[in-house]
Amino acid sequence: MKGGWIVGGIIMIVVGVFLLFTIICAILGILLGIIGFIMVLYGLVASDEPAQTVVYQYPPPQYQQPYQPQYQQQSYASSPPPAPSPSSAVKFCPKCGAQNQSTSAFCGRCGERFA
Ligand SMILES: [Zn+2]
Repeated sequence: MKGGWIVGGIIMIVVGVFLLFTIICAILGILLGIIGFIMVLYGLVASDEPAQTVVYQYPPPQYQQPYQPQYQQQSYASSPPPAPSPSSAVKFCPKCGAQNQSTSAFCGRCGERFA
């Protein structure tokens, strides 16, 4: 008699585990279906969001453009003015050594005439 109880109990355990497994599969299926439905709705609604993201993508290039001219201005302001302008626009008097503009014909200090 005890063997019949044991076999019956094992069968009930197996069937119960199977039913529990099927219930878990059903719950997972319901969850996956809900998640998939939400993803589909999000995909349909998200079609309007790319326009917002594109609007947000425009400001960064505008911020990057001001920085590039600044670097170019710094490069132009640092390299050319020190070297060429003083040497070309300034002329030293051969008599007293005073600085004079290259366009001036006479020395501003001693009045020496430049050649
Ligand atoms: Zn002079």
